[in-house]
Amino acid sequence: LVSRLPTVGTTIFTVMSALATKHKAVNLGQGFPDFECDPALLSHVSDAMRSGHNQYPPMPGIAPLREAIASKIAALHGHQYSASDEITITAGATQAIITCILAVVHPGDEVIVLDPCYDSYVPNIALAGATAVRVPLVAGTFRPDFDKISAAITPRTRAIIINTPHNPSASVWSKEDMLTLQAILEPTQVLLISDEVYEHMVFDGQEHQSAARFPKLAARAFVVSSFGKTYHVTGWKIGTVAAPASLMAEFRKVHQFNVFSVNTPMQHALARYMVDPAPYLELPAFYQRKRDLFRRGMSGSRFKLLPCEGTYFQCVDISSVSDLNETQFCQWLTTEVGVAAIPLSAFYGDSFDQGVVRFCFAKQDSTLQAALEKLSKL
Ligand code: PMP
Ligand code: GLN
Repeated sequence: LVSRLPTVGTTIFTVMSALATKHKAVNLGQGFPDFECDPALLSHVSDAMRSGHNQYPPMPGIAPLREAIASKIAALHGHQYSASDEITITAGATQAIITCILAVVHPGDEVIVLDPCYDSYVPNIALAGATAVRVPLVAGTFRPDFDKISAAITPRTRAIIINTPHNPSASVWSKEDMLTLQAILEPTQVLLISDEVYEHMVFDGQEHQSAARFPKLAARAFVVSSFGKTYHVTGWKIGTVAAPASLMAEFRKVHQFNVFSVNTPMQHALARYMVDPAPYLELPAFYQRKRDLFRRGMSGSRFKLLPCEGTYFQCVDISSVSDLNETQFCQWLTTEVGVAAIPLSAFYGDSFDQGVVRFCFAKQDSTLQAALEKLSKL
């Protein structure tokens, strides 16, 4: 058998979570909350199940949920998507992103990704028969390097994938960054896949700059998000894509054959829950407090904290703590110290090692304290 993905192994998230479980380590590796979602949301799910919402929903998602998303994007970003033709509910952002790629990327095309990037993008591009062109973010700051992005665009470039707030670096794109991208793409046919799953985790008074805010970007963009991050339900695997009708029509051609539709009761529960914007409006303060708790706890250690502008990840430089490479360090930290982390090298094409690892702070305070007790001794 000739593998479609010869260089791909098991994802680092699976590997590190399994190691953490085996060694009973505090798991700050894979990004997921260790606390429960709002009980009201759970009641809405059981209400939906008991009211008979248990069969296939419409292929693009139930209308009330698509309408809730369209209203939310209009309120937050001033762009009105058509709920019927321009919003689709997906099985998480992961399925949304591969479906975008399969819908618009042809064999032989190039797709620009910014290194380091989320680990599904490049294998998704390979499955479409296309080539991923990895453009590095600026070393050390993880800012976009627009000269390099411009230079990477060729007649074969079909799309660029961006991710703000950014996993793993926790950097956030500014309005100027988005305007610069818009200007670069304007004379081209390049499509934009904008991964905005951490849209509600932006700190210190900054605002999330959705591609939906910039009309000339929105006109060429798939804007992807995930309920899992926003409502503390990563295991529900439910997300959204918004795009102009012509792009969404192509998206749905693939969506109907790779998943067809997404589970019904969760959609009803989320539509009902979204009537109240408070849960997502309160999220920045909720996570900023956890970020600050974690950073304060680490400040006395020999780890050097990198900036954290958004997401629920904190990156730290390990070079004053250990000479191990990032992967060996994460293994050692999990097995010998009892705290799991993710090596940044897992997000690079060439496993670039800069001595930086990522911790997830979407955890109960007691979990963070337990980890800090171990980490602060290093
Ligand atoms: N993109 C990024 C940047 C992510 O961090 C994640 C979550 N791991 C995803 C996409 C996938 O989201 P979901 O769990 O909704 O599939
Ligand atoms: N996005 C999560 C992270 O970066 C993990 C999701 C997954 O395990 N695929 O940790």
